[in-house]
Amino acid sequence: MIRQLATTLLGATRAGDSAQALMDLGASICTPNKPACSLCPLYDDCAARARGDQATFPRKAPKKTGALRRGAAFVVTRGDELLVRTRPDKGLLGGMTEVPTSGWLAAQDDKTALQQAPMLKGIARWHRKAGVVTHVFTHFPLELVVYTANVPARARAPEGTRWVPMATLPGEALPNVMRKVIAHGLGEG
Ligand code: SF4
Repeated sequence: MIRQLATTLLGATRAGDSAQALMDLGASICTPNKPACSLCPLYDDCAARARGDQATFPRKAPKKTGALRRGAAFVVTRGDELLVRTRPDKGLLGGMTEVPTSGWLAAQDDKTALQQAPMLKGIARWHRKAGVVTHVFTHFPLELVVYTANVPARARAPEGTRWVPMATLPGEALPNVMRKVIAHGLGEG
């Protein structure tokens, strides 16, 4: 498409000179911030100048926002301790602390997310908190359903997770999305 349009503008010969002339124009007259239209050899043919919006070019393409991803987060307490784990070093929120969650996927229903709950003895049923926690990352928005449970004092943390006293949570590397999840999980309702 761009090649076809360019062909209609350039002469059949001396294409290199045409390209150089355009680069010179861009460097000296048609500059991004303040094009000097009155000095421009393309003044009569320039559609932007005719519309009067020449100062708005070049325009940045709007940022693409990814599709909404969904998942579940599990806020498990043992007395005054909370079950957490550390995210893998690489990738999104690498090395940060989180409560266990399901995968975060665009096509995920509540039942599939709940099936990814951590396996702990003493949980008869998960309590689903009303509402959802939403968070917007740079390249996708996330929506998490929050489940809570209390386990007996002797309950062991599943592999890859650990208990931390609530009092030490401020010292954990918790990303904002997890602070929201924990506040939602420990809140009323
Ligand atoms: S007339 Fe068009 S091409 Fe020439 S300087 Fe102005 S905006 Fe740029």
